[in-house]
Amino acid sequence: MVYGIVSRRPSPSHDQLNMAEDGERVDGINTSESGMSLKKVLSGASPLSLKIIAECPVTKARACDLALPHSTVSTPVFMPVGTQGTLKGITVDQLESLGCQICLGNTYHLGMRPGPDLIEKANGLHGFMNWKRNLLTDSGGFQMVSLVELSKVTEEGVQFKSPYDGKEILLTPERSIDIQNSLGSDIMMQLDDVVSSTVKGPRVEEAMHRSIRWLDRCIKANKNPNKQNLFAIIQGGLDAELRKACLDEMTKRDVPGFAIGGLSGGEEKDDFWRMVTLSTDHLPREKPRYLMGVGYAVDLVVCVALGCDMFDCVFPTRTARFGSALVPWGSLQVKQKQYAKDFQPIDPDCQCPTCKNHSRAFLHALFKSDTAAMHHITIHNISYQLTLMRSVRQSIVEGRFPEFIRTFMKRMFPSREQYPGWAVEALASVNVVLE
Ligand SMILES: [Zn+2]
Repeated sequence: MVYGIVSRRPSPSHDQLNMAEDGERVDGINTSESGMSLKKVLSGASPLSLKIIAECPVTKARACDLALPHSTVSTPVFMPVGTQGTLKGITVDQLESLGCQICLGNTYHLGMRPGPDLIEKANGLHGFMNWKRNLLTDSGGFQMVSLVELSKVTEEGVQFKSPYDGKEILLTPERSIDIQNSLGSDIMMQLDDVVSSTVKGPRVEEAMHRSIRWLDRCIKANKNPNKQNLFAIIQGGLDAELRKACLDEMTKRDVPGFAIGGLSGGEEKDDFWRMVTLSTDHLPREKPRYLMGVGYAVDLVVCVALGCDMFDCVFPTRTARFGSALVPWGSLQVKQKQYAKDFQPIDPDCQCPTCKNHSRAFLHALFKSDTAAMHHITIHNISYQLTLMRSVRQSIVEGRFPEFIRTFMKRMFPSREQYPGWAVEALASVNVVLE
C-alpha cells in the first residue's frame, strides 16, 4: 500500500521555507508493486513532511522521502554522528560528496564548547560548520548516562558537573531546547530521563513518566516550531507494558516525529528487537521513526524490516580509528600483517574515494605512521553505511527487500549456523524465513 503526505515541498533554505505556504498538499507517487494508493494528510504545520514511496508487502519496511528544511532525505537513512561540529576524520565537503543528507550535531559538547551563543552568531550550526544539508541535534541527555556518576536527576532537570571546568550545570528541558534553538538544527530531540537499558525496577517507570512530562515542557519551550522539528523519545526500558504506556501517551502529542530510545545500551538482543517491533507497531504510520544508537549492518537491515526509518551510531567512525573497515562480509582489520602486500582496495566493489585510490597495502603501511589512514578508513566506513541504506531502499522500492535480506545475510556470514539467533527470530516475525 502506498500513500503520500506532503504538507510542504522541500526548500533549500530557511528563508524560502518561511515563504512556503503552510498546508500545501500533493498526492503521493505510486511506485510499489501492489499498486494501491490512498491519500492521507498530516495535521499541523511542522517543517517536515513524510511521503511514503513504497512499503514492503512482506515486512514492515518502508521507503520514504523525508522533506526537511535544508533538503529531502531518502529513508531508510543512516545519520553519521559529528562531535563539536565536525565528524572526526572527515570534512563537511567529503561528507557532502558521499551523498550524506543529514548528520548529527552533539548538543552536549556544542553547548559546552564553543557554546550556543557563539554558534548562534555564526548563523547556527549550519553556518558554523558550513553544512548546507540537514542537521539533527540530541538533547544533551544521552551523554549524561555516560557521566552518570556526575549527574543527579530531579523533576526540574539533570544536574551535573561540567567535565571542562567542574562548574555545576542544570540541564532542564527548557535549557536543552534553548540550546538546540540556538544551534538551528532541522530536527531537535526532547530532553528525556535516560536510564541504562540494563536497569530494572521502579526507576524505569519513573523515568518513562518524567520523559512524558519533559516532552510537554520541550514542546512549550520551542521558539521555532515553524523551522525546527521536535522529536519525542519513546522510553520504558525493556518492559513491554511501560513502553506501550509511553507510546500511548506520547503519540497523543502532535510532534513531527518519534524516536525509539533507551535501547542499544548493552541489553540482550532478544529484548532489543522485541521493544523495537512493539514500538513500530504503535507509532503513527505517517510520521518518521528514528531508532537511536543503532549502526551495525545486521541491526540496520533487521530494524528496517521491523519498520524503522532513521538510525545513528558512532560505531562506523569510531571503529575506523582502530583500523577496522566495514565490508559486506563483516570487517577488515587493515593493521593485520596479511594486508601488507595486498594491492586490492578494501572492498573491490566499493565506489568510495578510498577504495578508488588506495590499496590495502598502502593503508596498512600508512596506519603505522600517519593518522591519514584513519581518515581514509572513516570515509570508506561512512560510504559503506550510506551505500548499504541506499541498497536497502532500492530493494524496498523495487519490491525485493526480503530477497535482499537473504543475500545480505549469506554474504555477511560464512554459514547459516552463524546467523545470530535474535536476527533469525526477528526476521521470522516479519515473515522473512532465512534458508
Ligand atoms: Zn570504500
